[in-house]
Amino acid sequence: MKTITGIAKMQEFSRQLHAGGLTVGFVPTMGYLHDGHLELVRRARTECDTVVVSIFVNPTQFNNREDFEKYPRDLAADRAVLEHAGVDVLFLPEASEVYAPGAATHVHVAALGEHLCGPTRPGHFDGVATIVAALFNMVMPDVAVFGEKDWQQLQIVRRMVKDLHLPVKVVGVPTLRESDGLAMSSRNARLGENERRLAPVIHRALSLAVDAYRSGEKRSSTLLALARAAIEESPAFRIDYLELIDGEALTPVETANDGSVVAVAAFLGGVRLIDNVSLARPRALDASSGADIRMRREDAHHA
Ligand code: AMP
Repeated sequence: MKTITGIAKMQEFSRQLHAGGLTVGFVPTMGYLHDGHLELVRRARTECDTVVVSIFVNPTQFNNREDFEKYPRDLAADRAVLEHAGVDVLFLPEASEVYAPGAATHVHVAALGEHLCGPTRPGHFDGVATIVAALFNMVMPDVAVFGEKDWQQLQIVRRMVKDLHLPVKVVGVPTLRESDGLAMSSRNARLGENERRLAPVIHRALSLAVDAYRSGEKRSSTLLALARAAIEESPAFRIDYLELIDGEALTPVETANDGSVVAVAAFLGGVRLIDNVSLARPRALDASSGADIRMRREDAHHA
């Protein structure tokens, strides 16, 4: 696996690949990798000849300094995990080069950024859209792979690519979960033992809404009340939002249909967890999915 830090070097390498007739698949991440990330790598590999993974904890998408500083980092293990997964290029841009002095340009995707996580995290999606656009210009991928775990982010990236006519195919991958249903997330590492035990309640609550929908209940208020009651059974959670939305427009819907998504953000201890499920029959991930390229973090340290 090749490691590239300079932006011009990354562009040059990508140009060479394209000149040689090879396609480039790209997985942008903030590191502290887990199996969910590797699912994206696997997908990029099926789509393209070459796989580039970036690790960049993007300061401009954190609206809180403490959250940025506490974001887990472990480059040594990430490197081993990616090597084991057969990634071709690890791209590690440096903040000082990404944001040169005087940087003043933002990508703002209106409307989509104003729902769900938008109000609680002002500026977050501008930070995301701007860095994704910039990373696309650095890596010049044919295909970029994102997780449905961050449903709002995925819709915003799709919109941006469409509006700016960026020559990148965006692929979404279903959320990879722990065996108890908790959506895999780098932030889970910040949960205490007790919180970790409680965390799967979020997915169970969303599943209650899905089950009720499949049994014929279409009223959003009823579906959300079921999920809310399940989460609020434990006083450890503080719900930021719990909404039934149109999966593309991200606006709340009163009557659920197969295009609806139930999305939640909740604080558990000091950690903000997000999750979502589609009311349409989910595309289940095979339980053995990704087993061939996975490596445990503990083992990665010894690799
Ligand atoms: P992050 O490192 O958290 O910025 O995530 C990088 C990419 O991995 C994003 O496209 C996320 O949506 C995706 N991702 C994070 N967690 C999961 C998961 N549990 N399953 C699938 N994709 C995920």
